[in-house]
Amino acid sequence: MDFEHSERARKLGEQVQRFIQERVLPNEKTYYEQLTHHPDYREWRVPPIMEELKAEAKALGLWNLFLPESEYGAGLDNRDYALLAELMGRSFIAPEVFNCSAPDTGNAEVLVRYGSPAQKDKWLAPLLAGTIRSGFSMTEPAVASSDATNMQATATIEGDEVVLNGQKWWTTGLGHPHCKFVIFMGLTDPNAERHSRHSMVLVPLDTPGVKILRMLTAFGHLDEPHGHGEVLFDNVRLPIDHFIAGPGRGFEIAQGRLGPGRIHHCMRCIGAAERALERMCARAVDRVAFGKPLANLGGNRDVIANCRMAIDQARLLTLKAAWALDTHGVFGALTDVSAIKVIAPNMLQMVVDAAIQIFGGEGVADRELVTTMGIARALRIADGPDEVHRGMVARLELAKYQPS
Ligand SMILES: Cc1cc2nc3c(=O)[nH]c(=O)nc-3n(C[C@H](O)[C@H](O)[C@H](O)COP(=O)(O)OP(=O)(O)OC[C@H]3O[C@@H](n4cnc5c(N)ncnc54)[C@H](O)[C@@H]3O)c2cc1C
Repeated sequence: MDFEHSERARKLGEQVQRFIQERVLPNEKTYYEQLTHHPDYREWRVPPIMEELKAEAKALGLWNLFLPESEYGAGLDNRDYALLAELMGRSFIAPEVFNCSAPDTGNAEVLVRYGSPAQKDKWLAPLLAGTIRSGFSMTEPAVASSDATNMQATATIEGDEVVLNGQKWWTTGLGHPHCKFVIFMGLTDPNAERHSRHSMVLVPLDTPGVKILRMLTAFGHLDEPHGHGEVLFDNVRLPIDHFIAGPGRGFEIAQGRLGPGRIHHCMRCIGAAERALERMCARAVDRVAFGKPLANLGGNRDVIANCRMAIDQARLLTLKAAWALDTHGVFGALTDVSAIKVIAPNMLQMVVDAAIQIFGGEGVADRELVTTMGIARALRIADGPDEVHRGMVARLELAKYQPS
C-alpha cells in the first residue's frame, strides 16, 4: 500500500490551502450574511461572494479537482484527491468554490462514464463549467430506502418515451436557484433480475409533471441555498434518450457513483474534524477555570488526545479506501469504503461534540460547530446508514469462512 501523494497533488494542495486561507475563510461571514434566509425556497438567491470566489478559483485552475478523467477534470486519482478534499472539508463553502461539491460531483461522474454524447453536451458541460447545479433523486418517503431495491417510483417505457411516476424526498440541492436537472432512479421492469429492474433517467426540472412540494429541514435548518427537496413526478414524459446508459442499468450506475462519492464525504470529515480540534485546543489553552487552563482540568487532555488519535486513524483508513478504489476498483474496495463510511462521520461527531463541550454554552451557539455536528449526524444516515455499511463489512468478512 502506497499512500504517498504525487508531486502534482502536493503542489495543488499548497494552492488550495492558500486559497482557502486567504480567500475562502475570510469570506465565510459575508457568505452567510448574503444568504436569503427565506422560508420559501423560491426566494433563495446564490450569495454573490460564492460566484466571485468560484471565478477566482477557476481562473487559477483549482477546478473540478475530483474528476479522475483528465479530459474533463484534474485527472487525479482518489488518493491524491483525498489530500485536496480534506482541505476543502475545513469550510462548508469551500467544496462549491472549487466546483467539487455533492451531489454535482457524483452526477458529473455518472455523465462522464455513462452519459450519451448529447447528455454530455447539454448537461455535463454546464455542470463542469459551474453554471448549473443538479440533484440526485433516489430516496422515497414511502419505502425504506436504505435498501435500494425497494424503490417504487416507476420509469416505464411507452413507445419512444419514458414515463416517470412517484414521489422522492431528500433530493439535496433541489432548492438551489441554479439546479436544472436531477438524476431520477425508478423501476422499469419489475420482472427482471433484482439488480436489473431499476433505471436512471436524466430529468430537466422544467419538464411538465415535475412538482417540487417542499424543502425538508435538517435539524431545523433548510440548508439554503441548496435545500433537500421533496418532489412529485406526476406522469413526467421524456424522450427515451433520457435514460442514462439504457433501461435497467440503475444499480450498476449507483454502485459506481456511490463508491468515490462516499469517500469524498469521509475526506471532508477529516478536514472538518481538524478544524474543530484546532479550535478546541486554542480554547482549552486560553480559557481559565478553577485557576487553570481548561486543558489542564479533569480528563480534558485525554479528550484532546482521543480526538487526535481518532482523526489520524480515520485519515489512514480513508487513504486505504482511496488506494483500494484506485487499485482494485469499486468492487475490490467494498470493505474499505463501507468501513470508512461508518468510521469518518462517527469520528467527526465525536470530535465536534468534544469541541462543543470545551466551548461550554458558547459551543451550543457556535454556528460552525453546531452545523458540523448536524452534518456528521446526518452523514451517518445519508449514502446508507451505519448499519447497512456494517452489514456489508460483516458479510464480506464472514464470506471468508463459508465453503465456496
Ligand atoms: C442530509 C441528508 C441528505 C440526503 N441527500 C440525499 C440525496 O441527495 N438523494 C437521495 O436520494 N437521498 C438522500 N438522502 C437520503 C438517505 O440516503 C436515506 O435517508 C438513507 O439511505 C436511509 O433511507 P431511509 O431514510 O428510507 O431510512 P430507512 O431505510 O427507513 O432506515 C431507517 C433505519 O433503519 C435501520 N436499518 C436500515 N437498514 C438496516 C440494516 N440492514 N441493519 C440494521 N438496521 C438497519 C437504520 O438505523 C436506519 O437508519 C439524504 C439524507 C439526509 C439525512
